[in-house]
Amino acid sequence: MVNKVTKIGVLTSGGDAPGMNAAIRAVVRTGIYHGLEVYGILRGYQGMIDDDIIKMETRSVANIIQRGGTILKTARCKDFFEYEGRQRAYDNLRARDINGLIVIGGDGSFRGAVKFSQEFDIPCIGLAGTIDKDIYGTDFTIGFDTAVNTAVEAIDKVRDTMDAHDRIFIIEVMGRDAGYIALHSGIATGAENILIPERKTDINDMIASLQEKERRKKLVNLIVVAEGDEFGGANEVHKILKEKMPHAEIRVCILGHIQRGGSPSCLDRLIASRMGFHAVESLIEGRHNVFVGIMNNKMHYIPLENAVKNKVKISEEWLRIVKILAS
Ligand code: ADP
Repeated sequence: MVNKVTKIGVLTSGGDAPGMNAAIRAVVRTGIYHGLEVYGILRGYQGMIDDDIIKMETRSVANIIQRGGTILKTARCKDFFEYEGRQRAYDNLRARDINGLIVIGGDGSFRGAVKFSQEFDIPCIGLAGTIDKDIYGTDFTIGFDTAVNTAVEAIDKVRDTMDAHDRIFIIEVMGRDAGYIALHSGIATGAENILIPERKTDINDMIASLQEKERRKKLVNLIVVAEGDEFGGANEVHKILKEKMPHAEIRVCILGHIQRGGSPSCLDRLIASRMGFHAVESLIEGRHNVFVGIMNNKMHYIPLENAVKNKVKISEEWLRIVKILAS
């Protein structure tokens, strides 16, 4: 039996994502509205272990909804992988009578929350904050929309140069295990080829089509590659192409960290506000060890364990669209 929640902690963990601040703001303000005390835990699980915890007030989250990053800071925390670390974290929460925890982060952070909630009696609610959109059970994750729009804006600019010079451009976007940023930004910018970890690429077929364009002197081609594609990113793809087409002008552009930062899009602010609000209400209602997802515009509460066990698949529909539109 879980006790009534009176004091809650909120943290951001793992890779930062635009919109995390909007989620913190929603958690703090909804919590205070319901008469809870809300504590901000700094640097994710590290702050829980180090007792780096501050009381949050309504004003603490003023003027942050439009800011990227996270005011609570984030970190990757080795000690939380160990039981002793998690025990210390629990002791620190108990010492302040914190009896509910909201974790904003990606699947790694959820894995940590699953362990913590199995071992200790503090209910956890997860909010999917990741630019990769690789959390099973939700149509949206906080940060994806902003990141993909940043990628689209950058790729459009590169395309102008590519067209002007008749070049092949290989653009690498983020996504070590998940190809959603590459898929969506590639479709939205009219990329001729999109290389993602979830799908095998017929590289010989791709080279044959590029060589054909080279023969026709129409060698303008945009290739969007997820950093975790089967070849190991844009530089590796470049090596393969250069070997077969030594005279072609092929350029590589790695977008890197610009995709993580920046002011969150309207959509990210809205879903972060909505998820943050429901995270607190669901804790109050007695839900625990679930994450708050949105599917078909409805809130869903999915056990954290299911979220980390299942892998998000890219639908056959998208894969067909890519195949047909990018030919
Ligand atoms: P993200 O949440 O963005 O996927 P990470 O995978 O780096 O980021 O995870 C963030 C943090 O969550 C880790 O640094 C660690 O503290 C915690 N974590 C991840 N996996 C586990 C695990 N299996 N057990 C305990 N803690 C974990």
